[in-house]
Amino acid sequence: MPKNWVEFSLGLAMSTISDECSEIEDISVRVFSLRGGRIPRDKPREFGRDLPEYVECANPRCSRGRFRVWPVIRVAASRHDETFEKRNVCNGSEGRGRPCLYTFEVEGEITYKT
Ligand SMILES: [Zn+2]
Repeated sequence: MPKNWVEFSLGLAMSTISDECSEIEDISVRVFSLRGGRIPRDKPREFGRDLPEYVECANPRCSRGRFRVWPVIRVAASRHDETFEKRNVCNGSEGRGRPCLYTFEVEGEITYKT
């Protein structure tokens, strides 16, 4: 394996949302999983600048359900929004053609470099 290929792939693995959006100073993100949009909701998963690009669905029977968080942040950052909120139905399935009924809800705050 060529050495520069290794460095390239390591660089990709370590990229963070603040590398993607250099104007972000700090970020706080909470991801909720809602069953059919019902309350009470589970404890949110919380992230900072270690925010992963994808968050997996919390439904144990769900397969391939995940939500891409970074595009939400990119849109918010391009508008310099200090808070953001986004809700998306899970795109996964429980098998035999049954869709997953969970919903991702993402909210958070962004601080920008001055
Ligand atoms: Zn799901």
